[in-house]
Amino acid sequence: MSAALIDGKAFAATLRAKVAGYAATFEQSAGRKAGLAVVLVGDDPASQVYVRSKGKATTECGMAGFEHKLPDDTAEDVLLVLIARLNADPAVDGILVQLPLPPHINEQKVIAAIDPDKDVDGFNVVNVGRLATGLHGFVPCTPLGCLMLLKDRLGDLSGLDVVVIGRSNIVGKPMAQLLLKESCTVTIAHSRTKDLPEVVRRADIVVAAVGRPEMVKGSWLKPGATVIDVGINRLPPVEGENRGRLVGDVDFASAAEVAGAITPVPGGVGPMTIAVLLRNTLVAAHRNARVALAKDAL
Ligand code: NAD
Repeated sequence: MSAALIDGKAFAATLRAKVAGYAATFEQSAGRKAGLAVVLVGDDPASQVYVRSKGKATTECGMAGFEHKLPDDTAEDVLLVLIARLNADPAVDGILVQLPLPPHINEQKVIAAIDPDKDVDGFNVVNVGRLATGLHGFVPCTPLGCLMLLKDRLGDLSGLDVVVIGRSNIVGKPMAQLLLKESCTVTIAHSRTKDLPEVVRRADIVVAAVGRPEMVKGSWLKPGATVIDVGINRLPPVEGENRGRLVGDVDFASAAEVAGAITPVPGGVGPMTIAVLLRNTLVAAHRNARVALAKDAL
């Protein structure tokens, strides 16, 4: 392997420690803790794990966590009433509704009901619009985490050619917007892109957010490219394994021979998502309580 490893786990730990420091000074200034409300509807096991780890991380860094678990058959109106209550609650700075919601609930309607200034996931159209027009707002946690790793590794990104593979609202599109804001030349590739390997070969930076195990091969990469692998895919277990291995959207073994730097899976982008959620919540708390926070503090 010739590529340098981009250690998201270490970066996320440092960010969380910084958030904890600022959370303590926030509590002194505001006379209350910063607060994150997490809403879970239904009993999807993966969502339960995510919600539990978000709650644990929130209290570990000195913020207040408010968990709202609702049954699977909760009516949309009931959820909307809860969101309205959280919007009005001064102890709640950030609201996160764990997705996916059960099929009888309109996700867009629920996300639209969250106060944009408490929308720490950055999914509300007001925040999507703010990002697209260069205004301050909340940016989705996973792509913001990817950008932090890229800037830490490469410094100034301006003029670099980037290929983002995937055009989801949660990762691909906001990732492309963030990189455009950094003055990169951005190509968004997706399931209908023709000759993907050829498109990827142009890139100084490749961000893979596809959800297909080990799809991007080393032979697709420009030598020295920086590779950010957002994918989290569990392979079927092989003999002797209880659970299959976790892999990304990039074939790590071949990519690491060609890339200049690469994020591993696990331990790359994954840990950044919660760390950025905590960061966004603390930023929201400062804004809501009108407590100053230095511009590039977090
Ligand atoms: P998604 O399914 O919403 O979007 C996938 C995108 O990939 C689509 O835009 C589609 O056009 C594109 N695509 C599908 N097949 C393709 C192909 N053959 N060639 C090129 N493009 C193709 O997924 P998502 O929510 O954006 O997530 C992507 C991956 O990132 C998943 O593995 C997910 O688990 C992971 N993820 C990780 C984190 C994290 O915290 N690390 C957060 C969110 C998502």
